[in-house]
Amino acid sequence: MRYLELGKTSLKVSEVGFGGIPIIRLDTDTAVKVLRRAVERGITLYDTANAYRDSEEKMGLAFRGMRDRVVIATKTIRRDAAAATEQLENSLRMLRSDYIDLFQLHQIAREEDFQAVTSPGGALEAAVKAKEAGKVRHIGVTSHSLTMAIKLVRTGLFSTIQFPFNFIETDACQELFPVAREHGAGILVMKPFAGGVIDNADIVFKFLRQYPEAIPIPGFDSEESVEQIVAIYERENLVTDKDMELMDEYRGKLGKAFCRRCEYCMPCPNDVKITMAMGYPIFVSRMGAKVATEFARIPMESVAQCTECGECIERCPYGLPIPEVLKRNYALYRKDREDNPS
Ligand code: SF4
Ligand code: SF4
Repeated sequence: MRYLELGKTSLKVSEVGFGGIPIIRLDTDTAVKVLRRAVERGITLYDTANAYRDSEEKMGLAFRGMRDRVVIATKTIRRDAAAATEQLENSLRMLRSDYIDLFQLHQIAREEDFQAVTSPGGALEAAVKAKEAGKVRHIGVTSHSLTMAIKLVRTGLFSTIQFPFNFIETDACQELFPVAREHGAGILVMKPFAGGVIDNADIVFKFLRQYPEAIPIPGFDSEESVEQIVAIYERENLVTDKDMELMDEYRGKLGKAFCRRCEYCMPCPNDVKITMAMGYPIFVSRMGAKVATEFARIPMESVAQCTECGECIERCPYGLPIPEVLKRNYALYRKDREDNPS
């Protein structure tokens, strides 16, 4: 495992980090074991969020007595300063820490999000104040929109950008990475498995290791998954012709027909929470059906408001048949609720 500077931050982190969503579905003891195994195996960067249910709390428990060995990144989805401060204080409590290494503004995709967080009284103001108070070391941002991610980096307001990147979605390496390099912003890679649609860890990380300035943060749900991914990083990286063929197979199979969570389709005139509802099967695969039905309850219930007006289809750059997918996901959600009564 190598340790790399995260952009111009003073943070030195392992070349692969730990994404904090899948531990949601683990019981606390197991989650703590998985996290500690990751620390033992040299992973030092841990990414979580206020929105990830008990993920922060589990990290707080796992890292007792070893806070100085890990770099913790968390996020607030709130857009105004007061609510962002409240979430930050909650994160500190859950993480049992008096500082956060990297505090990220979560999912800034649309212009209105950007305006809300950067205006006076916005979440960025809260993050800056927290940094001055020593509660936050660095401020970062996450986005699913390439245009917005580039804009965010260009402001120079953020030390890191977190963005989806994998061998199917490669735009970032041509368009975002050079801008991040120019501004000294660290890059965190979300969705190394394209949100769960790629199931071959070997080629996922062989591909990503060709871009060492971008630190992937895959989710781990078992000690075995930690061993598996760390082992890939312990080997020499050789992308073979066979690997390239396999990647092409995935690209051919998936085409462009999967939701990237870019949010261009939003807002829906009937207030359907499209992006979250499109991703329901992925939530199920990552959290298990019981947790996913609760986690995605509001967006999934909003699907009932869809009138199939088609506005979202026109806005989706990938031409996804959104109402059709939503209907399918809604049927799956109803069945999961029946099978897993709360
Ligand atoms: S449905 Fe299309 S526009 Fe909406 S989030 Fe998914 S990929 Fe983006
Ligand atoms: S088709 Fe459904 S989800 Fe899409 S914009 Fe219209 S009402 Fe909203």
